[in-house]
Amino acid sequence: MSSSNYPPAFIAGRLALDFANTAPNSRELSWSDFVLFLADAGVITEERAARLSSLADTEPQAVDAVSLKMLRLRESVRAVFSARAEKRPIGKNWVEPINDILRITEGHDELSQHDRTWQLQFIARENGLEWLLAAIARSAAELLVEGPDAPVRRCANANCRLFFYDNSRTRRRRWCSMATCGNRHKVSAFLKRRKRQ
Ligand SMILES: [Zn+2]
Repeated sequence: MSSSNYPPAFIAGRLALDFANTAPNSRELSWSDFVLFLADAGVITEERAARLSSLADTEPQAVDAVSLKMLRLRESVRAVFSARAEKRPIGKNWVEPINDILRITEGHDELSQHDRTWQLQFIARENGLEWLLAAIARSAAELLVEGPDAPVRRCANANCRLFFYDNSRTRRRRWCSMATCGNRHKVSAFLKRRKRQ
């Protein structure tokens, strides 16, 4: 993202989890950051992103309204998948913001291919700004119904805790990325070992 370097990249493997990762803490997500996130995720085109960004000046009320829904959705997604990653039960009303978006957005499914795997992608009908949240809500809903065995995890680095979907062959991925947290851990483990010698 342009305004901050967080998160490092799209490392989660699921749109809903990448969206959850835009909040390392309770920091708000600005409208332009959110639009940029959608463009980086491939949900909208760059041209559309530019048009949507300018709405903050021309239609501030509409932007405020959808921003509120966006933050509610993110809170819900974080609560639901924190619980799932930690094998805790998920409260019935936690998913309400997800259902709210599913209820108001119409669209259809389309098959698309990424790296030789086929995915069913939700294409929202474009009326109102809420449709911007549709793909995220849909991704969260699909991940939730995958059940408690879905490999939703959080980075083992206590200062990071990014969400990811572990589709590694061994299903024992521990880090959001080897390049950052994995490497940091390797280096500190090495230093600890050397101290003991
Ligand atoms: Zn990490």
